[in-house]
Amino acid sequence: MLKNTIFTLNKRPKGIPDNNCWKLIDSPIRNIKKNEILIENMYLSIDPYMRGRMNAGKSYAPPVNIGEIMVGETLGRVVKSNSKKYLEGDLVCVHKGWQKYTLVKDNDLTLIKVPKTDIPASVFLGALGMPGRTAFFGLTKVAKPNQGETVVISAASGAVGAVVTQLAKIYECNVVGIAGGYEKCKYVTDTLGANNCIDYKNDNVLDKLHEYCPNGVDIYFENVGGDITRDISKVLNKNSRVPICGFISKYNSINIANEETPFTVFKNMKNPPKHRFFVVREWAHQFESATKTLLNYMEDGQLSYKETITEGFENAPQALRDVLSGKNFGKQLIKF
Ligand code: NDP
Repeated sequence: MLKNTIFTLNKRPKGIPDNNCWKLIDSPIRNIKKNEILIENMYLSIDPYMRGRMNAGKSYAPPVNIGEIMVGETLGRVVKSNSKKYLEGDLVCVHKGWQKYTLVKDNDLTLIKVPKTDIPASVFLGALGMPGRTAFFGLTKVAKPNQGETVVISAASGAVGAVVTQLAKIYECNVVGIAGGYEKCKYVTDTLGANNCIDYKNDNVLDKLHEYCPNGVDIYFENVGGDITRDISKVLNKNSRVPICGFISKYNSINIANEETPFTVFKNMKNPPKHRFFVVREWAHQFESATKTLLNYMEDGQLSYKETITEGFENAPQALRDVLSGKNFGKQLIKF
């Protein structure tokens, strides 16, 4: 009989989550019923939002309760099917947590079939999956770039940032990335095509913003918060737009409610940019078409991707710590 392995939340973290925050447990898999499928997961996506869901307070989504399965999206192969919609062998993404097998109804709203293509399936958790769609909607629906505008992107080498960077180039903007370290910055310019990239760990960010954005900044795609946001606020143009995607620099805070957020920074400006927090799910009804658009760009050679794949499900906690401290380079995945 098949046996499942799952990570549950064991305790709430204070600061950086240590291994005791989770429990890795075996669990039985019950028999599959009508209109259900059993998925054997191949990859688990590790994403910054997971840290927030480990806290007790409600943010834009409810917290994971102690003892519950850790939240997350996986990609796997259907190994048993009692469904007409999904057949054995189909590849699917599903948002049902950190587990080796997922037993799910075929009408579950988080199920997404992976289209047949030569691109590796794992990319449907990254540039062609949730992070890619976040980039696409945040840029096109919230920021709405015009040709020739200057777009600055923080965490530009990451899963979301890399797609924003490339889309902004496709839309013919002056694109400036911000990333940590020489290697990541070189990737942002040489592979992703940004006009320039600021190494926030070694450069004076404000000086570089003045140098690379002589006409000011029209769009700032916010991924990190903190010092970078304060520097950006000094070079934003009138009528600038800031999609607030996240502010990862604060996620490990012991008291996140007391932290300075991008909202605090912009609220205190004399001429604040048009800004708002957005969640990718706002456009859930357009997920399929967004993925298709991104897939077309990738098949045309206009969109590339980078992954950090860590082998072994048991290493998922460390991979989350890595993402929250910038040790990942590109989309962080766990291979089961
Ligand atoms: P990434 O793959 O970009 O990984 C996170 C990156 O953030 C790290 O590689 C690191 O890059 C950077 N980082 C980590 N800690 C810090 C820090 N203290 N200060 C500055 N930079 C830091 O993650 P994603 O692309 O998946 O996520 C990027 C952002 O998008 C996050 O804020 C996330 O919460 C948000 N998000 C929001 C969604 C929404 O619907 N609103 C959906 C998906 C993601 P470096 O080495 O360059 O510092």
